[in-house]
Amino acid sequence: MLQSPQTTRKPALPMRKSALATVFLLALTCHAFALGGGKQQRLQKKAARIHNSCFTIDSHNDTPMWFMDSTYNFGENNANRRPRNRVDIPRMEAGGLDAAFFAVFIGQGDRTPQGNQKALEQALATFEAIRRNVKLNSEKTTIALGSDDGPAIAKQGKRAVYIGIENGYPIGTDLANIERFHKLGARYITLCHSSNNDICDSANDTIEHHGVSGFGEKVIAEMNRLGLMVDVSHISDESFYDVLKLSKAPVIASHSCARALCDNPRNLSDDMLRALAANEGVIQMCILSSYVKAPLPNPARDSAREALRIKYRNFKGLNEQEMSQARHEWYEVDEHFPQKLATVQDVVDHIDHIVKVAGIGHVGIGTDFDGGGAVEGCEDVSEMGNITLELLRRGYSAKEIRMIWGENLLRVMKKVEKLAEA
Ligand SMILES: [Zn+2]
Repeated sequence: MLQSPQTTRKPALPMRKSALATVFLLALTCHAFALGGGKQQRLQKKAARIHNSCFTIDSHNDTPMWFMDSTYNFGENNANRRPRNRVDIPRMEAGGLDAAFFAVFIGQGDRTPQGNQKALEQALATFEAIRRNVKLNSEKTTIALGSDDGPAIAKQGKRAVYIGIENGYPIGTDLANIERFHKLGARYITLCHSSNNDICDSANDTIEHHGVSGFGEKVIAEMNRLGLMVDVSHISDESFYDVLKLSKAPVIASHSCARALCDNPRNLSDDMLRALAANEGVIQMCILSSYVKAPLPNPARDSAREALRIKYRNFKGLNEQEMSQARHEWYEVDEHFPQKLATVQDVVDHIDHIVKVAGIGHVGIGTDFDGGGAVEGCEDVSEMGNITLELLRRGYSAKEIRMIWGENLLRVMKKVEKLAEA
């Protein structure tokens, strides 16, 4: 999820993926890249073949915020909704995406007993909304828990819905909530969002704990014990290094980019990338444009955003209806004052850099769709094959592409599960 507004938020075929999805993928790739004759067409066909042979998983979307809307159905094509919706089952099928982590996102609010209780209730309502949308579409999708579930569900031609929690805020001060979330299906927790919380400091806030707090240490130990992945996206640099010292299991950055290519505190420096590799963890490349490439100045949009910040009291202390309205208006501003988006090529520049610094075994994809994620050439989940095409164009082998699309993340999940069993 983007840091503002803080309010926020196969069919039963025996084949792994339907032939239809392949046709769609080819159509999309042809559309996105001007045809350069036979060579280009051969490359596109090869990319589609590789893409469809991979187990593909996106480690982060904020689509559950849509699930909270009773008019939204995950099983329908929602491409025409405004503000734009970027993930649903038909477009996951078209884009050849087998699985994704759907985020239970809770914007940071007051760190008081009342604030914590409200955050807990919101988290529980979001779990419920995810289950409702999956149940409504049970012939096409299933909740996934363990690392083996995603590939097994994909083999049945269905989409696997994993659950992650974005912001440890709803844990409140009660460690027992972590086990409760694990029982409800959560398999990672992003320790904080764009403000500090009781667990650790955020990349977008002032220093408070100097990294992970005493309570945060207990949270990490409990996550290790239960087999929940620790997600370091959104946390401060000091928090990041603390987590690496504290966690017994490898960690993930569910949606982050390389700071060397886009200087944003949300992104990971080269030193952090090397430390993450030493931890046997993985960074999942985020495709939120302003984390991929510094945006060009857009004063009209900046002032429209500022007006919204004032109107919604800096997105603090809003009730659910106000939060939903603020989120919609925020994305409307984006549509009225469009930003020149970074491109799929820019995204793969980051992947190239991460591979160079951390190694091929430590990078994956975490789009942040429906939380601000979208780049030119990959504006919704139906276009994910374009990332594979660009990787192939740059010389990545099928084996390497498989690692990026899922094997690296599954390796971390397996290790986390194993350590929890031990
Ligand atoms: Zn986020």
